[in-house]
Amino acid sequence: MSEDTTDDNTSPTDLVFDPQTWYSATVRDNNEECRNYLKTFTIGQLYSNDGHYVLVQCGVCGDPMEILTAVRLDPQPEIP
Ligand SMILES: [Zn+2]
Repeated sequence: MSEDTTDDNTSPTDLVFDPQTWYSATVRDNNEECRNYLKTFTIGQLYSNDGHYVLVQCGVCGDPMEILTAVRLDPQPEIP
């Protein structure tokens, strides 16, 4: 496991989500008390809700994770 700091130039606040859209995303746990601290995870299907409040919770500590990258899924998955 190596920590990747070289391509971390883009601020997560630059991420723009279209509303009601599915994305694949990478997220990172920033809670230093969590065993997932600084681990990154790939989210295969992340829903953008209204496009403003996009939240990924850590399954261990329950804190919101920082969204590092998000890529719009194409085609969009069909969710019943
Ligand atoms: Zn956590």
